Amino acid sequence: MKSRINAIPVEENEFCKHVLDKGFVRLVEWSGDDYAPARAARISYGRESKGKEQDEKLLGYLLDNRHDTPWEMIWFKWHVKCPIFVARQWMRHRSNSFNELSGRYTTFEPEFYIPVRGRIKSIDNKQGSVEVTDYQAMKEERGEEFAQKFPFKGDWNQDVISTIEGVSQHAYEMYEHLIRIGVANEMARMVLPVNLYTEFYYAVNARSLMNFLSLRLHPHAQLEIREYADRIMTILQYTHPVMMRLFLKNQEGA
Ligand SMILES: Cc1cc2nc3c(=O)[nH]c(=O)nc-3n(C[C@H](O)[C@H](O)[C@H](O)COP(=O)(O)OP(=O)(O)OC[C@H]3O[C@@H](n4cnc5c(N)ncnc54)[C@H](O)[C@@H]3O)c2cc1C
Repeated sequence: MKSRINAIPVEENEFCKHVLDKGFVRLVEWSGDDYAPARAARISYGRESKGKEQDEKLLGYLLDNRHDTPWEMIWFKWHVKCPIFVARQWMRHRSNSFNELSGRYTTFEPEFYIPVRGRIKSIDNKQGSVEVTDYQAMKEERGEEFAQKFPFKGDWNQDVISTIEGVSQHAYEMYEHLIRIGVANEMARMVLPVNLYTEFYYAVNARSLMNFLSLRLHPHAQLEIREYADRIMTILQYTHPVMMRLFLKNQEGA
């Protein structure tokens, strides 16, 4: 089968971080430094900067008081490789621009996200889940009701992971089969599951990116997208340390 060529380098460095088992987030380019929003805000008074200390105070004020438009003066372009279900959550953020790899024009590689461990629903966080390291201990902790509702004997994590692996492998074999008998890519992809990796470019300004981070770093967000948000934050702490310090302070107070 003709496979697609991925010529993009993905070694880890300050601008590129690996995420999950096969994904990454990579800052392709950006415009505007930490102080760009302060310079933009001061245009209201017909001036630009009052020095770093005063500018940082102003930046904190802008963030805490929801004077959001100056943050639009910084923008970023990211290259993301993530499972399709993460991309779906990501693209709900409408005030951004996206360009995604096409499953109509290219053939997908057999790249599926396989988690390390299974997760069960959290008790105290309705939207969340918790990783299971010791199934027996967890079962005892959850009590009789849980054991009756979810009867299971054996290696629970092994069962969860091998089910995900097995389905992914089988789906890819069926995908290859359809391609081999001449089915168009756009149709053959219908058999592929949402843990398949996709890639997209993501252009976003700092205002919208902070909204994304605030929502997707939150414990209510799904673990996988939280991992991506976390790596974006790590990269931003390198490129925009002042903005990130103020953002984290603002989140603590939120
Ligand atoms: C933990 C979690 C669970 C979620 N669960 C679900 C779910 O079950 N089902 C589901 O469908 N979605 C779900 N979402 C997605 C969520 O509803 C938002 O669509 C997503 O988080 C994007 O947020 P946003 O609208 O702030 O971002 P953006 O779309 O980037 O918008 C940024 C800001 O622009 C403004 N804005 C954008 N569009 C409009 C508009 N049309 N009208 C008015 N103001 C606008 C708002 O102020 C908004 O905050 C979930 C999100 C999270 C974080």
